[in-house]
Amino acid sequence: MLTLIALPAFEDNYIWVLHDGHHAVAVDPGDPVPLMAFLNTHQLSLTAVLITHHHRDHTGGNTALRQRYNCAIYAPLNPRIPSVTHTLHGGDSVEIAEPALRFTVLATPGHTLDHISYVGHGYLFCGDTIFGCGCGKLFEGNPAMMAASLDTLLSLPDATRVCCAHEYTLSNIDFAKTIDGDNPALQARERADRDLRAHGHPTLPSTLALEKVTNPFLRFHDQVMTAFAVRYLSRPHPSPAEVFGAIRAAKDEWDG
Ligand code: ZN
Ligand code: FE
Repeated sequence: MLTLIALPAFEDNYIWVLHDGHHAVAVDPGDPVPLMAFLNTHQLSLTAVLITHHHRDHTGGNTALRQRYNCAIYAPLNPRIPSVTHTLHGGDSVEIAEPALRFTVLATPGHTLDHISYVGHGYLFCGDTIFGCGCGKLFEGNPAMMAASLDTLLSLPDATRVCCAHEYTLSNIDFAKTIDGDNPALQARERADRDLRAHGHPTLPSTLALEKVTNPFLRFHDQVMTAFAVRYLSRPHPSPAEVFGAIRAAKDEWDG
């Protein structure tokens, strides 16, 4: 049996851990300290680390974890990522013996050019590509690139559990309400997620089904978001990528 845990790290990161009671895999362990403490407490050995992109808040644990557990470290091709043992590209698969896991690797550039996501066992580990009701900032990619990556993720089954690398959901909902305040699914999500946070629980994983109806950054094909983009850009007939770009620009402005 597989267990999924979201370990809080830094201010708002999650390190996702999948384990079978004996062996564990961790996604984006930017800080080795909370992960080592968890593994110690539960007497788990770490067999593999999965990295989504090169940012330090995702890769900062690699070297210490490799030294301590001699674990495999899977990552996209980028010399800035330390201690990598297996380099991955979109379309590759990752097979881990213990816990028995198999993931498909999807290229999801946009937040960074090297960003990849891992799909398997009903889970999507999407790093800083999708957040709860949001998406990653475009530090290296452009709107068309990110929109294409999001389209790739939108083709996964609705029941897919979306495991994002940061807890940004409530502030993303605050932004979403500014352009989609009449959406009853968004209102219901806000109530549910405020309750989770008030009790100290993660709002994640969410499901792709929930993101599809509440996350403005996944709705660049729909009428509400297209109408918003027409107003924001002051011109008619934006393409889906331009709709996405308008929402992203509006969020960046809102963030200040
Ligand atoms: Zn990042
Ligand atoms: Fe990050």
